[in-house]
This record gives sequence, structure tokens and C-alpha cells, in this order.
Amino acid sequence: MSTGLVKVILDYDGTLTAEEDQVGELAERSIGTLSREILKAPLSQVRDDYYRTRAMLLAQPHKYWWEVNGGVASYSDEGAFIANTTTILIMLRTNPSYTQAVGDHFPEAEYDPIVDCSNYLFHKHTFDLEPHFREATERVLGELMAHPRLEPIILSSSKGDKVRKNMRILGFEQIRVLGDTRQYGIDPSWERQFAHPEQGEGQIFRVDEEHTIDLRRPAYYNALVKEMRDAEKLVVAADTFSMPGALPMMMGIPFLLLKTEYTPAWCEAYVRAHPYGEVLPDLGLLPERVEALI
Ligand SMILES: [Mg+2]
Repeated sequence: MSTGLVKVILDYDGTLTAEEDQVGELAERSIGTLSREILKAPLSQVRDDYYRTRAMLLAQPHKYWWEVNGGVASYSDEGAFIANTTTILIMLRTNPSYTQAVGDHFPEAEYDPIVDCSNYLFHKHTFDLEPHFREATERVLGELMAHPRLEPIILSSSKGDKVRKNMRILGFEQIRVLGDTRQYGIDPSWERQFAHPEQGEGQIFRVDEEHTIDLRRPAYYNALVKEMRDAEKLVVAADTFSMPGALPMMMGIPFLLLKTEYTPAWCEAYVRAHPYGEVLPDLGLLPERVEALI
């Protein structure tokens, strides 16, 4: 039997927390900030635009995605927070006066002004939200911490300070946080190739007729490779697929997709069919599933 260290990389939002319970408040706070600070447009107008855009997206979610540098970072229906982010992005992009106002407010964009704006809203408002931990979160983290071979690490594309603040509430401030790993950060200039079991070498692979996965995420790739250096094995667990799951799964790292009320059927089917993918029906089952993998 092997005795090496196994790092269990756990996504934060939606995996350890019930983001489906928080998204309404996140949306309202974002709408308020857009109206007051950024768009300087009436609250009722921004709110109407938001909910109209959201309904349009969710009627045909494969046609809308979080686009970063021309690539599909995540489809709009993969998670509750992603549906919110994508709604904001599409709403801002499809209204010229909104696009102009965002450009004026974020003149020195890191990605582009609209992506920077949605990142700003996400970081600002999720930092202030009361965490709604999933029922099993405290027990699962405790079991992983107590296990002699396992190290839980929390992954977040949010800034690490939010996660650290909320982990303190549970008394788990000693858990390492891999923050700001930019799972959404698609870089078209990155040339690394991956091998798909049926589709051969490439960087963008087809999931089904309506969806592809884009693996050109060098920041996240480098974070995973760095974690592998002193570990025998990594396992990644997350509630969404494209951002935290597709890349490790295609690198041969076991990926557990937490099934939630918002998990789309296409994500579940694809993960279930992949040799390194597994669907986790409940967060409470994580320790035993990890045990079976090591
Ligand atoms: Mg998540």
C-alpha cells in the first residue's frame, strides 16, 4: 500500500457552499452597484434588463457562455454563480450605452472592461455574502484534515481572502487556500497540447453537439502542476465542470463533479463517461470516494 500524500483540491463556491441559496442576493447587490456606480442608470431599468437577459440565456444556455479572450470559459448553465456572471456579461455587451459606461469606468482593463467589471462585481459582492455552507461541509473538511494521507486544499477563482475569512467561521483557518487560480483565464497564445481518448491531440475538445471544452488555462494548469510536485496524487472535486474540472480530468487527475440542483445533464453525462471522471451525488460522500481512489 502506498503511503504518499494525496492532495484533495476542493472548489469553494457551490461545492462547500450552497450557491443556489446565495445567488439571488449576489444578483441584487450586483444590480445595485451597476445602477449606482457603473452604469448610472435607474435601478428598475437595470433590474429589468438583468432578469430579461437571464431568462433569454437560460432558454438556450448552450448559446451563451462566459467568454474570456475569445474562448468558452464556462457555459451559462453550469452553476448558479456562472448564470449570474454570464447574465451580467451578456447584458453589458448587448447594450451599447452599457458597454460605453463600463469602458469609461474600467479604462485600464486586464482582460477587457466588461470581464473586469464582472470580476469586480463578483469579488466585491461574494466577499460580503453570508456563507451558506452545505450541510456536510464541516464534517467532510474535518475528516479530510484528520486523515493521515490527505491534505484538503481549497480552490477558488475568487480572491483567497474571502475563502480564508469564511473558513475561520468553521474553525478551519489552517486549511490552505489556492486562491485566484484563474480557472477562467483562457490564453489563446498558450500552446500546450492535450490528449483526448477519442479525439486525439488538441486544446479544445467536443463534449456533444452543443458544447466544447477549452483547456487553454495556463494559470490553472501551472497551479495544478506545482501542487503535484510534492504529492503522490491529486484529486479535484467541484460543483461545475468547464472551469475547475475539465482541465484536471483531461490531465489524468481524478475529478469528482458534485451534483447539485443546477448541474446540467450534459456535464454529468460527460464526466460520468470519462475514465478520470466521477459524479458525486452528495458532498457527504466525498471522504469515502477519495478513499476508494487512493
Ligand atoms: Mg464552484
